Amino acid sequence: MKYVGRFAPSPTGPLHFGSLVAAVASYLDARARGGTWLVRIEDVDTTRCQASFAGEILQALSAFGLAWDGDVVYQSRRVAQYEAALAQLAARDLTYACTCSRREIADSGLSGIDGPVYPGTCRSRRLLLPGNAVRVRTTPGAICFVDRVQGKCCQHLERDIGDFVLKRRDGLFAYQLAVVVDDAEQGVSHVVRGADLLDSTIRQVYLQQLLGVPTPAYLHIPVVMNEAGQKLSKQTLAPAIRPAEACKLLCAAFHHLGQPLPVADRYDTTAALLDFAARNWDPAAIPRQRCR
Ligand code: GLU
Ligand code: ZN
Repeated sequence: MKYVGRFAPSPTGPLHFGSLVAAVASYLDARARGGTWLVRIEDVDTTRCQASFAGEILQALSAFGLAWDGDVVYQSRRVAQYEAALAQLAARDLTYACTCSRREIADSGLSGIDGPVYPGTCRSRRLLLPGNAVRVRTTPGAICFVDRVQGKCCQHLERDIGDFVLKRRDGLFAYQLAVVVDDAEQGVSHVVRGADLLDSTIRQVYLQQLLGVPTPAYLHIPVVMNEAGQKLSKQTLAPAIRPAEACKLLCAAFHHLGQPLPVADRYDTTAALLDFAARNWDPAAIPRQRCR
């Protein structure tokens, strides 16, 4: 099978150490298999993303020696494809419009794996789609996948998440739909990303099944925490990584991933370090962080 991997950052801030580790893991997994490594800028939420951050992220990847294959894909330019996927689901009555506010859902829903469970209030109201949020109908029963590091992960989507949003009231497409459409269209065979997205994976597997596209192999790496035990992110004010520290930070990333570190000082360029790490890449050594 042809290996196609990808790194898919959201340009809501500069690259920080947590996103560097995800980039490094997906890069090494692809290079170790002689595969293709794509970069996709996930700027579908135009209210949170900035073009300047996308440029900074791409510059940082280059400065760290993480050279991608082909052209960078921007989600903000792919709205027509998301619209087509949504239309395909709508035509089979798998979606419906929802007018509930966050507040109403929080008040009437149970708390689930990823916030309040949508209680299905609008399921049979047959509201018109334009101008409203669009949700996909979920079904009872477990959906599972086997993560290459974390093992078997299952969710009962209807019970644990509820019917989830594919298109927001403001007209923007949700990450869950965009990522599935893009991974399928780009022929992504292997997804390697942070374990903060483990809980989203079942929603993506479900959409893949509805759209009749293949489910890639998944590998979720442990999330990087700061000293206060919070996930590194823009919200927790994770500092941007500095190219001057590229070699030091690459080694720190290998260490976080449980990978061996080179000893000889001839590994003093990013290219030499990444080449060493790809030759010694061992997914089985990545620490586990169990899914719920
Ligand atoms: N854009 C997502 C993020 O930065 C990652 C999506 C993915 O790898 O599936 O958190
Ligand atoms: Zn509703």
